[in-house]
Amino acid sequence: MKLLIIGPQASGKGTQADLIAKRLNIPHLSSGDMLREEKRSGSELGKKIASIIDKGELVPDELIWHMINHHLKQHPEGWILDGFPRRLDQAKLLDRHEPPEKVLLLEVPDAVGIERIAGRRICETCGKDYHIKYKPSKEDGVCDADGGRLIQRTDDYPEAVAKRLADYHKQTEPLIHHYERKVVRIDGNKGIEEVWKDIQRRLSN
Ligand SMILES: [Zn+2]
Repeated sequence: MKLLIIGPQASGKGTQADLIAKRLNIPHLSSGDMLREEKRSGSELGKKIASIIDKGELVPDELIWHMINHHLKQHPEGWILDGFPRRLDQAKLLDRHEPPEKVLLLEVPDAVGIERIAGRRICETCGKDYHIKYKPSKEDGVCDADGGRLIQRTDDYPEAVAKRLADYHKQTEPLIHHYERKVVRIDGNKGIEEVWKDIQRRLSN
């Protein structure tokens, strides 16, 4: 099965994509993970990508597509793709080569996503992640593992979150209309277990 999963930040799509991948025995291809791996590998493409990211620029679509297509081609049996496409032109590029069979849409109201992200903390020393409501440390603001200070990632600052949400509404939501009948809408405003049950039920239909 060839699946796309889309949803705003903090919709839980990474977690659900992992569960789906395990259940269907297909790889979870996350564009973010692929980019990081490519950088780490030190390949020619990785070096090119690293220099672009270090300059603070956006990695051009051709490079991202080159990398993603390479992974898709290795798994003709199927995959679940996460983080790409984010825009209509990217979706059309994907459709020309590897059209997805279904598109899972994980829906979460903006306010819920914002609340989930606002509570995220990370240890300054060891990088362990926490959430003030869902995964709190024993002592406020202090890492359980090493006593390090818990801070917010700059990516999780309200301005950064608002910018990504606006981008999602403007650029990614048009994909819902584009994929129309392939779209499977899932209510992501529930616990992980419940969402997972819904997904399994909807995918087996
Ligand atoms: Zn720590």
